[in-house]
Amino acid sequence: MTPCTHLDHVRVAQLPESVESCEECLATGGQWLHLRICLECGKVGCCDDSPNRHASGHARSSGHPLIRSLEPGEEWSWCFVDEVALLIPGVHGETRIPPSPLG
Ligand SMILES: [Zn+2]
Ligand SMILES: [Zn+2]
Ligand SMILES: [Zn+2]
Repeated sequence: MTPCTHLDHVRVAQLPESVESCEECLATGGQWLHLRICLECGKVGCCDDSPNRHASGHARSSGHPLIRSLEPGEEWSWCFVDEVALLIPGVHGETRIPPSPLG
């Protein structure tokens, strides 16, 4: 596994208790499949299987490399720069998320 060199970008140590949806989808009336959170600024976005791919869009436009899955029971993170999945032990908590409108 390729090591990620961006762990100093992680600013989110505690996940939010609950989120409503992908922030951009909420603003634009879009639909998401799975939710991810940016570990640098805490922005919630949708996965690359969602129609609008807001999580990777945010990573590209902001330069924030790391996201973590907010899906129940999932603890993995992903680095968009290194294109590698990893577990980041310093991130705690579990987020309640609503069911996807896309099922
Ligand atoms: Zn990285
Ligand atoms: Zn979205
Ligand atoms: Zn961010």
